[in-house]
Amino acid sequence: MDSTPKLLIIEDEPDLVLGLRDNFEFEGFRVLDAGDGENGLALAVSEEPDLILLDLMLPKMSGYDVCRELRRRGFKMPVIMLTAKSQEADIIAGLELGADDYVTKPFSVRQLVARVKAHLRRSSGKGEQNEYSFGDVWLDFRNYQAKRAGEPLTLSPKEFDLLRYFVRRRGETVSREDLLNDVWDIHDYPMSRTVDNHIAKLRQKIEAEPANPRWIITVHRTGYKFLG
Ligand code: CA
Repeated sequence: MDSTPKLLIIEDEPDLVLGLRDNFEFEGFRVLDAGDGENGLALAVSEEPDLILLDLMLPKMSGYDVCRELRRRGFKMPVIMLTAKSQEADIIAGLELGADDYVTKPFSVRQLVARVKAHLRRSSGKGEQNEYSFGDVWLDFRNYQAKRAGEPLTLSPKEFDLLRYFVRRRGETVSREDLLNDVWDIHDYPMSRTVDNHIAKLRQKIEAEPANPRWIITVHRTGYKFLG
């Protein structure tokens, strides 16, 4: 990534595009935009932006189809969905198709800018990290220390292992089988329920609303996805 990040906005509400363009240009981004899914996909392929803001309800080709097509073609840039829908099912559908994150309209542009920057930092970062932060949580995997909102957070070794694994595969759908194979040892005699129980406990520790998780979300019938 060169010093000027390139952002593609695929959105059919002109006022919203204008507002986003102003804000992101002010933040030093080069901004491209498309008002329908077909043009958006074409621009994404020809321009290879560093990150895409993708509306879901678009003329000609839906945001879901744009996202699926991009991933099918091997494009790995972060995609943040701009969704008018707050229904969990729609959000999960988008995430399953390969989107990395979402915001629900109406959203705070300043927050979106911060999130875009965080995704860009991560997608340009390489290799294993000893420390990792998301939301108000800070993790030090080497020393098995954690904090939440500056206060010490007690996590079990297994919870650290789980989080390390999620961080490594952030943005990907991780199946229960993956977790059982890679985070648990065979002699633990683990079961799918073991995974779910650990995730539930972990959510109590790191989520503001454990019943409505923001960081470790459930992917229906499959497993989990870490969005930190
Ligand atoms: Ca729309």
